[in-house]
Amino acid sequence: MTSALVQTGAAALVGARLGLPGAVTAALAAAAVALPYAWAVRRLDAYPGTGRGLALFAVDHTWSLLNTVAGALFLALNLVAGHRLDPACSRHRGRIVLREQALPGYATTVGNVIAGLTPANAAHEDLHVRQGRLLGPLYLPLIALGYVLCTVCPLWLRRHDHTAWPITGPIRYFTHGVYPHVWHEAWAYRRDRAR
Ligand SMILES: [Zn+2]
Repeated sequence: MTSALVQTGAAALVGARLGLPGAVTAALAAAAVALPYAWAVRRLDAYPGTGRGLALFAVDHTWSLLNTVAGALFLALNLVAGHRLDPACSRHRGRIVLREQALPGYATTVGNVIAGLTPANAAHEDLHVRQGRLLGPLYLPLIALGYVLCTVCPLWLRRHDHTAWPITGPIRYFTHGVYPHVWHEAWAYRRDRAR
């Protein structure tokens, strides 16, 4: 419940700039996504009861709170879509795993919520969780900036591997070109190759 209180309280503070109605509306909207997140954290026993677990929880609800709220929204949408929690992959791992993919063909990580985790992609997705904790409130804006820059200014074409990621049309320009070269994905794929 601490998780839901922190997320709802933060939303109320942001909404308070618009006066009392704004604070109440923001708090209600935040509670709608924070309560399922808090329920999942508790049900999955997602954070270990160790100093490390407490530290991860503290980071996720202070410096990385924006990522956690985004992850809570992502979790709520997945639950509405009927996707199922994966207790074995979540317990004491500091993450909330959903069995089903949110985007067909891709695992997706938002905050510490991962949809479509497999043994093959676990290290890659866990790195995205750590990137968020490291960069906190800057993470999501920097990802958005990365996508915009890579889309309109494809400097990556000079070092692109056209054999592994052939670009045969506008959709693949994005899925095979922009996507693997955005800074946070390039970082994760480089780590995958080094393993
Ligand atoms: Zn990735």
